Amino acid sequence: PLESLSVGIDITDRKEAEILLKERDRQMQALLEGHKRFVSDASHEIKTPIAGIQGNLEVLLRYPDIPAEEKQEILQDCHREAVRLGRLVSDLLSLARADRGILLLETDVRLDVMLQDLLREFEPLKGNHDLLLGEVAPCTVQGDPERLKQLLVILTENALKYTPAGGEVSLTLAREGDRAILKVQDTGIGIRQEDLPRVFERYFRADSSRLGQDPGGTGLGLPIARWIVEAHGGEIWLESQVGLGTTVVVSLPGCLEM
Ligand code: ADP
Repeated sequence: PLESLSVGIDITDRKEAEILLKERDRQMQALLEGHKRFVSDASHEIKTPIAGIQGNLEVLLRYPDIPAEEKQEILQDCHREAVRLGRLVSDLLSLARADRGILLLETDVRLDVMLQDLLREFEPLKGNHDLLLGEVAPCTVQGDPERLKQLLVILTENALKYTPAGGEVSLTLAREGDRAILKVQDTGIGIRQEDLPRVFERYFRADSSRLGQDPGGTGLGLPIARWIVEAHGGEIWLESQVGLGTTVVVSLPGCLEM
């Protein structure tokens, strides 16, 4: 009986080891696939603005005598593309980090103070919008301060971007039990119901023609935002009505009053 017992253990051990190995292979494979997809998506996205800049500069080099107005337009185009490229590269770096799961979650972060700082920083960037701080409860979570700041910046930038001049963007922070509830609310163009489930997909951008001019974007902001929230054990969702506005809600666990 002893012998059969030990054989039994052996087999279970081996089976477990096999399962573990298979699981590790599967994870490695997924990581590799993710990496391949990341590289091919990224190079496609980066080539487009570069081609734009190249084409425009070639026109300027070949026709040095075109009217100043036209020249100005071409330069503005180049500038826009270069800004987009810069944003794209920094977003892609964030996502590459996200794919590798690198995050430091050990710092006490005062979310209420962070919000107040953020509002001050956005003051010169708000354009013709009302940017307001609503109710803000004292609230500390454990997390990565840089990433949480990035989250707030993404959501505030979006709210401003997709709200026509004269509209309002307001931020609030409340505590519900041990959760911090952050809301970024705007009176902007809103998101169609059928687009709502897609806004967290990489590179997805809903039609923003209702704004007149496309405010520009990479379609990577919300995927990064979601990664940051989920890495902190939280949840993020959007409530939106076309023409009325959008509210992004972030719920983070482990919130202390201090
Ligand atoms: P982008 O760089 O295009 O802003 P995001 O990933 O941040 O990319 O957002 C994806 C899409 O979701 C945007 O292109 C826009 O269509 C929509 N969206 C995001 N935030 C808002 C908002 N506050 N109001 C209306 N639409 C929004």
